[in-house]
Amino acid sequence: MVSPDLLKILACPDCKTSVVPDGEALVCANDQCRRQYRIEDDIPVMLIDESNVLTPEEWAQTPAASASA
Ligand SMILES: [Zn+2]
Repeated sequence: MVSPDLLKILACPDCKTSVVPDGEALVCANDQCRRQYRIEDDIPVMLIDESNVLTPEEWAQTPAASASA
């Protein structure tokens, strides 16, 4: 579980959009970016090279889809 204080300061390193927790990962709230960052030992791995890019269909299933403005 990533702390709410940490989440507030985290942003996607690719597009600088905020990220949203989704189970054991963080998902970028930008629907053009859709990067997913894994969490290891409660530490989010905020590295572009280590991220997955979700398909639009996958991204739409995550909490990030409803969090994006
Ligand atoms: Zn992003």
